[in-house]
Amino acid sequence: MKARTVDTTNHTRIAVLGQRVLGGTPVTRDEANWLFNLETSADILDLLAWANRIREHFKGNKIHLCSIVNAKAGACSENCSFCSQSAHYQTGSPKYGFIDPEPVAEAANEANQNHVTAVGLVAAWKGLNEGPLLDEVCDRIRELKAGGKTRPDASLGIIKSQEVANRLKEAGLECYGHNLESSRRFFPQTCTTHRFEDRLATLGYLKKAGLKICSGGIIGMGETRADRCDLAFELKAIGANVVPLNILNPIPGTPFAKNEPLAVMEILKTIACFRFILPRQEIMVAGGRTVNLRDAQSMIFMAGASAMMVGNYLTTLNQPVEKDLQMIKDLGLDPNWDRHDFSDQIEDGCGCGSVACEAEGELVVAK
Ligand code: SF4
Repeated sequence: MKARTVDTTNHTRIAVLGQRVLGGTPVTRDEANWLFNLETSADILDLLAWANRIREHFKGNKIHLCSIVNAKAGACSENCSFCSQSAHYQTGSPKYGFIDPEPVAEAANEANQNHVTAVGLVAAWKGLNEGPLLDEVCDRIRELKAGGKTRPDASLGIIKSQEVANRLKEAGLECYGHNLESSRRFFPQTCTTHRFEDRLATLGYLKKAGLKICSGGIIGMGETRADRCDLAFELKAIGANVVPLNILNPIPGTPFAKNEPLAVMEILKTIACFRFILPRQEIMVAGGRTVNLRDAQSMIFMAGASAMMVGNYLTTLNQPVEKDLQMIKDLGLDPNWDRHDFSDQIEDGCGCGSVACEAEGELVVAK
């Protein structure tokens, strides 16, 4: 049998880029677009191996876990095409008003038992203004903070004034989740009741208030690879601390119900490309993990993810937390994120504590 010649050009180019990111020099947009367009499984597996190295270098073996509570469900005025909670679509998803203290306390206790760093209060509404509802939201945040079991986070939609962001910060909020969802170019195909710019403006108020930003998007909505690349660079420009990557779980009744699922290798490649572009950030695999990745879920860490949403999502189920914790331990990773901080802020080394790594870290320049 004649041996096939293996072309190692891509193998070498991926390694050069990986080495450069490890040394603190970011990939350019052209280089990142080239990575997003890798096609063969040999090239994608090379990419994953380098993304894994970059994750280890900057994040050590710690895996950051988050969970969410649906603090106000359904009947949302917005028309996001992926969302079962929009009042524009018939989906049968639950509807209720803003929750009482008890379910929040329960979620915090459960999170604490499962090594989960943060609990996010997530509300299905357009946004938050000054008024009695903001008072109630601030009460829940204060209770969560005072309980001391987890970091209080929230995702409460669009904010239109600095005062609202400041009130949330004063109540004890540490991190606010507000996804850009997709590229600026593709966003109008996901929602027409508010604009990409409204989301950027919200993030501006939050940053000015001194809150950490959890912002990412959804893949598999029909966007191109270039859209995914642009989203990653947009998130880099706004200085997102945590970058959740959701994979569309098409919900019957929504406009995206019949979207073709992304191939598993395409999803893993996307996570790896995000790691190349955002080497220091927490890259969190969030909604759609179980249904889209199935037996390949553990490969998210090799693809460069350093964080994972556990427990059930807002309207869909996840695999049991115990199974996720076992998966993390089986890979030699550590879910005990005891510092409860944002390691993308650390300038020197990855925070893993190894002397060699700290020394290497001195060469790394934060971008
Ligand atoms: S604003 Fe949030 S809850 Fe409302 S439709 Fe969009 S994604 Fe769903």
